[in-house]
Amino acid sequence: MIETARLRKTFRMGDVEVEALAGVSLRIEDGESVAIVGASGSGKSTLASLIGCLDVATSGEYRLAGRDISRLGRAELARFRNESIGFVFQGFNLMARASALENVELPLVYAGIDGRPRLLLADEPTGALDSRSSAAVLDLLLAANACGVTLILITHDHEIAAAMSRVITLHDGSVVSDVATDAVPTLPVAAE
Ligand code: ADP
Ligand code: MG
Repeated sequence: MIETARLRKTFRMGDVEVEALAGVSLRIEDGESVAIVGASGSGKSTLASLIGCLDVATSGEYRLAGRDISRLGRAELARFRNESIGFVFQGFNLMARASALENVELPLVYAGIDGRPRLLLADEPTGALDSRSSAAVLDLLLAANACGVTLILITHDHEIAAAMSRVITLHDGSVVSDVATDAVPTLPVAAE
């Protein structure tokens, strides 16, 4: 479903060029659950924004659901993104007063769960949550995955990474490790 080849992304800051992604080649099948981990600045969010069609690569190839994304124009890219991809971002801290349930529901509304995306991208979705709310968010993401939605989740949390079926580690814009976890698929347990 997702296939990247030598994906590079550079940012220019004044005279300095930052290589956020240094040539990433990977393949993710429909229905997989994948954690992307790595130190701050390793390129996780950049990779997620390319996979999520929020931005385009400097060079390299990207195919999503059989389509050559590198060759889509802006309007086509936006339409494809709206139809196929859901996003969950960190930012629950903005809703500190909301109940745990609302904390879980709101971002999933933003993510377009109602639109049944084929791909759900979550960039540190539990980064600002207490452990109980984190578990609830994780359960919902896993429930979506159990329904066939491909899940790609960026996280610093080892337990959450271990709940995915595969963990990809980035370092300085390159994939340095890509391993299947031995996570046993379990039915998500709804949190109160
Ligand atoms: P991570 O999500 O792993 O912390 P990022 O993908 O955000 O890493 O960033 C990777 C590198 O690219 C960092 O050096 C970061 O400073 C740089 N970078 C990311 N986005 C931009 C941008 N819009 N402009 C300039 N540099 C950027
Ligand atoms: Mg990031």
